[in-house]
Amino acid sequence: METKLLPADSAGIALAARLLREGQVVGIPTETVYGLAANALDPEAARRIYSAKGRPSDNPLIVHIAALEDLYPLTARCPRLAETLAAAFWPGPLTMIFQKSGRVPPATTGGMDTVAVRMPSHPAAQAVIRESGLPLAAPSANLSGKPSPTRASHVYEDMNGRIPLILDGGDCAVGVESTVIAVGEDHVRLLRPGGITVEMLSRHCRVEVDGGVLHQLREGEKALSPGMKYKHYAPNAQVILLDGTEEDFLRYVNAHAAEGVFAMASRAEAARLVVPTLPFGGEREETEQARRLFDCLRECDEKGARTVYVRMPDARGVGLAVLNRLLRAAGFTVIKL
Ligand code: AMP
Ligand code: MG
Repeated sequence: METKLLPADSAGIALAARLLREGQVVGIPTETVYGLAANALDPEAARRIYSAKGRPSDNPLIVHIAALEDLYPLTARCPRLAETLAAAFWPGPLTMIFQKSGRVPPATTGGMDTVAVRMPSHPAAQAVIRESGLPLAAPSANLSGKPSPTRASHVYEDMNGRIPLILDGGDCAVGVESTVIAVGEDHVRLLRPGGITVEMLSRHCRVEVDGGVLHQLREGEKALSPGMKYKHYAPNAQVILLDGTEEDFLRYVNAHAAEGVFAMASRAEAARLVVPTLPFGGEREETEQARRLFDCLRECDEKGARTVYVRMPDARGVGLAVLNRLLRAAGFTVIKL
C-alpha cells in the first residue's frame, strides 16, 4: 500500500474524512502524540488499527470525539463528576473511562465492558472528527512497543506501507499520551499520568494514584489500564535511570564515558558531560522533557546508542508522566546514586 504524507490543510482533512468513512486507518496529529485513527463503531476498522500497529488485541483503544453531546451515545452511564471534569479539561489531554453502551463494539475496547473517551484540542484532530462525522478510535501511531510518535516523520517511519494516509500537523505540543482516569462518584483513580496533572485534577476532586503508575505489576497482577502491562516506549538501547543529584549524575555518566554510553540531559548538563548527549529538558523543565521525550528515545536508535543514562525526573506536574514513561522505557532499571 502507498502511504501519502499530506499537510493537515483542508484538502488533507477532506481526504482523511473520506478514507475514515470507508473504514480505513489514517495517521492524525493530536496535541498529545500522533494517533492512528479509524471508525470506533466499526469492528473491522478497529481491527485494522490493531493489525497496522501489531498491537495485542486485548489492549483497548481510546475513542476521540469533538463535542460533548457525542459522549452520551457511547456510554451506559455518565457520572456527574465526569461532566465537571469534561467542563474543566475538554478539549484537552484527559481520557475518562465509562461503562460502554451497546453501540461500541468489543473490538474497540479490547473486549472490556468499559470505553475510554477523550476530546482532543488539536484543531486538525477536531476537524477530522467533525468532517468524518464519526467517533474515532485512535491509539498512538507507533508500532507496538516503540516510542510514541510526536512528529509526522515518526509516524512515517513506523507506518509507511501499512496505512493509506498520514496528516502532518507539526510537532505535538504536549508530547506524552493523555492522562487516563477512572471516574467514581467523588474521586478519580489515575491509571496513566499525562498532560492533565494530579495537581490540576485535585482542584476538583480527590485523586488516587494507581499503584501501576510508578511500580511494575507483579506476575499475575491485574492491570486496570491494560497498556501498563506491556514493555513500552522502548528503544533498542538499554535506558538506565539514575536517581541522585545533578552533580552525582554528571560524575557517574562521565565515569562511564569509555564504555560508549549516551545521555539524555539539559543543555547546561550537556556542556559538562563528555559523552554524546541528546537534548532533553533539565530540572524544573518537565514540560520541555515531556515534549522531547519520545523524540530522544527514537534518536537513541538512530545514533546506534547501546546504553543511555537519564537522570530520574521530578514527579511534579507533567514530570509524573515523564517518569512513568521513562520507567517503562528502562524496564524499571533504576540505579540509586
Ligand atoms: P494509547 O491509545 O496507545 O495511548 O493507549 C490507550 C491506553 O488507554 C490503553 O493502553 C489503556 O491503558 C488505556 N485504556 C483505554 N481504554 C481503556 C479502558 N476501557 N479501561 C482502562 N484503560 C483503558
Ligand atoms: Mg500507545
